[in-house]
Amino acid sequence: MKSLSIIVPCYNEEAVVEVTYNRITAVLRQLTGIESSILFINDGSSDRTPELISGIAALDKNVKIIHFSRNFGHQAAVTAGINHCKTDLAVIIDADLQDPPELIPDLLQKMENEQANVVYCVRKTRVGESKFKRWSAKKFYRTLNRMSEVKFPLDTGDFRLIDARIMKEFNCLKERGKYIRGLISWVGFKQVPFYYEREARYAGETKYPLRKMLSFASKALLYFSKKPLLLSVSLGFLAVLVGILLALWYVFGKIFGYTNAESGFTSIMIIVIFFGGIQLLTIGVLGQYIGILFDEVKERPEYIIEHTTNL
Ligand code: UDP
Ligand code: MG
Repeated sequence: MKSLSIIVPCYNEEAVVEVTYNRITAVLRQLTGIESSILFINDGSSDRTPELISGIAALDKNVKIIHFSRNFGHQAAVTAGINHCKTDLAVIIDADLQDPPELIPDLLQKMENEQANVVYCVRKTRVGESKFKRWSAKKFYRTLNRMSEVKFPLDTGDFRLIDARIMKEFNCLKERGKYIRGLISWVGFKQVPFYYEREARYAGETKYPLRKMLSFASKALLYFSKKPLLLSVSLGFLAVLVGILLALWYVFGKIFGYTNAESGFTSIMIIVIFFGGIQLLTIGVLGQYIGILFDEVKERPEYIIEHTTNL
């Protein structure tokens, strides 16, 4: 008999976890010939989430919990889930019911039919999210794809079904800054899409405010693309070209007398500001990559587990 884990990262989800549990178990009960369990990762919640899920786990031994020592972030929580899965299959799903658990049987069916290793869920629509979020997410996935050496499916979050082979390879990846949906694409094997309508958050607030969204996006870009560095080189070339043209202009100006060297204040200021700007910008880009190296060489663990339940 095959085994399945449902990985659910939770950060301050007191408003939804019980409903989430009920909806997932209702779906799991209908599955035949598959042994299933739920793995909640409590990502350092400061509300009643830990009590609520502990209460559930006390009654249902098929509910396992990993409690982090503090908030380590969504990607760290999912990573911990994958690291601790000993099952043949796993579904990664958000706690807020934006990804309907009722689709799990369809995902299993699709994996079976297509003999795939990954069934990733592509959002046809996203309800209940701001226009800005939908627009920026769309732009982000397309830009990332253009910049990255690996190609990713568009409009795809972490909601997906993966098999043991994928988990095994994923667990070998040593980088600490994990952009999970990118890494799973990177691993390869047979990956097939499943189209669905993304629902609105059931209750509670988004845990991804603009600041976190931007840092998530820049992490994905920096970990999967070296193009920003190349962009610095292009800017450098542009600056050199502008420099040469200006030099020619002034030299010939001096010779033929169409410029007046003494009154050069404005042109000098423009050049100084322009080149200064380009230099700061490119140093900034370099700095971003050095920052990543800095974080990675420290080799700190991605998360610290305080305790586990039923695991
Ligand atoms: N989450 C987490 N740690 C965090 C932030 C979010 O475990 O630091 C979880 C959260 O509980 C939810 C999922 O990640 O299950 C996605 O978060 P959210 O729904 O708030 O993001 P959005 O859908 O608004 O992008
Ligand atoms: Mg959400």
